[in-house]
Amino acid sequence: MWEKTFLPWDSQAAQPVTHCHYCGRGLYEGEEFYAVNGIAVCDACLEWFARGEYAACRMSGREWRQS
Ligand SMILES: [Zn+2]
Repeated sequence: MWEKTFLPWDSQAAQPVTHCHYCGRGLYEGEEFYAVNGIAVCDACLEWFARGEYAACRMSGREWRQS
């Protein structure tokens, strides 16, 4: 019978310091990411996050001219 074993991870290297709020990916000590209002956002999710965050700012050229 195959037994479940855990690989001997280097605990310092393998433990994420936090997780991306959106994709859930582990974010590690040596890695850079964005901390926005206390929320961790990884590089890959930043564009998605920004689009959501600034959705209210999105406008057409016509709206821009009328404002
Ligand atoms: Zn992410």
